[in-house]
Amino acid sequence: SVEIQGLSKRFGDVVALDRVSLTVRPGEFMALLGPSGSGKTTILMAVAGFEQADTGAIRIGGRAIDRLPPHKRDIGVVFQRYALFPHMTVAENLAYSLRRRGIAAAETARRVEEALALVKMEGYGARGVDQLSGGQQQRVAIARALIFRPAVLLMDEPMSALDKKLREHMQMELRLLHRELGATIILVTHDQEEALSMADRVALLHEGRLRQMGTPAELYRAPADAFVAGFIGRN
Ligand code: ATP
Repeated sequence: SVEIQGLSKRFGDVVALDRVSLTVRPGEFMALLGPSGSGKTTILMAVAGFEQADTGAIRIGGRAIDRLPPHKRDIGVVFQRYALFPHMTVAENLAYSLRRRGIAAAETARRVEEALALVKMEGYGARGVDQLSGGQQQRVAIARALIFRPAVLLMDEPMSALDKKLREHMQMELRLLHRELGATIILVTHDQEEALSMADRVALLHEGRLRQMGTPAELYRAPADAFVAGFIGRN
């Protein structure tokens, strides 16, 4: 589980987060949905440990993680832009963090193959990243985030740089992957269709505040206020 309690964050005069509390259950697929600037990425960065909140507490699997560095939080992160090392092969990208932790070559090779299989990229290890399509690169980024089999996968707009057809395909694959892994997923998106079609529950944010949290059906059928109704109903 990921328990977020009373998270607040300001950047100068901008209130990025205002006392946000929400719990993501073990194995749940949660979408953080909201317009640009609503605070979604700030929540993800705080959970990942790349950004420190001003107040509030975060627990992952019941453990307080506020003082832990990102690599000790049992998370994997995928960003919109893949952030792969472009001059390395696919396998080198995946092996990078394993090597840094001194994991033996044979074990590294086994884990790299396993991670590639998860995203249906078996046999691509020797390819250069720059030889891959955008969708393939995003798959490799997901595989890399899964290399340590984290309990929680954090994704920030992972599909928004892809064209519509590929995006729909990746959305389907990500749902299947979620089922297969049983991992907890937190997906940041500004796309209400994506959130409603993929997530078990959706947390809708606006101007740093949590406006409503519920299943897609709950948000759709019983929006808490006019903002939720408007945002969900668009398109
Ligand atoms: P987007 O989809 O546009 O990234 P978001 O919902 O993820 O939006 P955040 O990125 O969390 O929103 O930003 C929330 C608010 O905090 C915005 O007003 C943003 O400008 C501000 N903000 C975020 N990060 C910083 C930063 N490092 N320095 C200054 N202001 C920031």
